[in-house]
Amino acid sequence: MGMDGTLVDRYRRQKAYAGVGEKGQLQLANARVAICGMGALGSLIAERLCRMGVGYLRLIDRDWVELDNLPRQALYTTADAELVRPKAVAAKSHLSEINPDVCMDSVVEDVRFENALQWLSDVDCIVDGTDNFEARYLINDVAWKTGVPWVHGGIVGVVGQSMAFVPGRTACFRCLLPEPPPIEHMQTCDSAGVLGPAVGVVACWQAMEAVKILLKSDRAGDGTLSSFDLWEGAVRKIRVPKTAMCRACGAENYEFLEGAIGSQARVLCGRGAVQIQSSGRERIGLAALAERLRTLGKVFESPFLVRFHFPPYVVTVFEDGRAVIQGTENPDEARKIYARWIGG
Ligand SMILES: [Zn+2]
Repeated sequence: MGMDGTLVDRYRRQKAYAGVGEKGQLQLANARVAICGMGALGSLIAERLCRMGVGYLRLIDRDWVELDNLPRQALYTTADAELVRPKAVAAKSHLSEINPDVCMDSVVEDVRFENALQWLSDVDCIVDGTDNFEARYLINDVAWKTGVPWVHGGIVGVVGQSMAFVPGRTACFRCLLPEPPPIEHMQTCDSAGVLGPAVGVVACWQAMEAVKILLKSDRAGDGTLSSFDLWEGAVRKIRVPKTAMCRACGAENYEFLEGAIGSQARVLCGRGAVQIQSSGRERIGLAALAERLRTLGKVFESPFLVRFHFPPYVVTVFEDGRAVIQGTENPDEARKIYARWIGG
């Protein structure tokens, strides 16, 4: 019932579309989606799926909201940045206001081989909102090992791409790109910049592909990679063939999920920072850590993280023992700081 006393069906306009209907709306309401990375792509994808009434969303992100995210990252506000809110937490809070029917969990963690199955395997679709190749290979391994479809998306500058990968139906991400490109050849969001509306095109494309997967449409996963040059206004679709020699979908060798490939220290895209993952699985007592660090300098504390300034570094520690060290792009230097101030 609406506030004015009329009976309002929130979803009536999308149910009017023949591809959805009453049945499709019910499928969406029963569907579960994991969104891996809640940056520019992920936050908009989450918003689209939430508004459409997808029953469950798992919002996964390792980062917090910063002012320079706001030109692109549709869900977040200046206050989120000022409060250093983790993106997964801020997103859930805004999305619950948009659609309280949707059940959501925030996961403030980095998805890596130790926890990938836990966060990504019990859903109907995984959506890629990540900014790095390692995470995409990991998602691809989970998808092919467990049979969960996933929707890839990526964008640098104004050039983006997307493809729906459906086990048993399409080629996989490693058929498309057998090995990660060498770091020195990679353009990043930092070097090439990135524009909000271009991100929006790719994010909405991904959300549409995810919806088709959730509706079990025969149009889901057509086996093509779509690429966009939004400055030129050019869209291309390229058929991606299955590779018989593929290490993932061919040989079923899930190296990223097994942890054979991957790293503990990772330089973060365009941040002048390194992320360190603790080797242990125990949670860190943030209050105790803040107490200990307070004797050494300025400490900011929230229920989700502790941040301390140790010039020239700013170190942010999360509950899962993960730390982001700003002020260096040298993994060894970052590891040293982590061992010294947080623990080895
Ligand atoms: Zn493959």
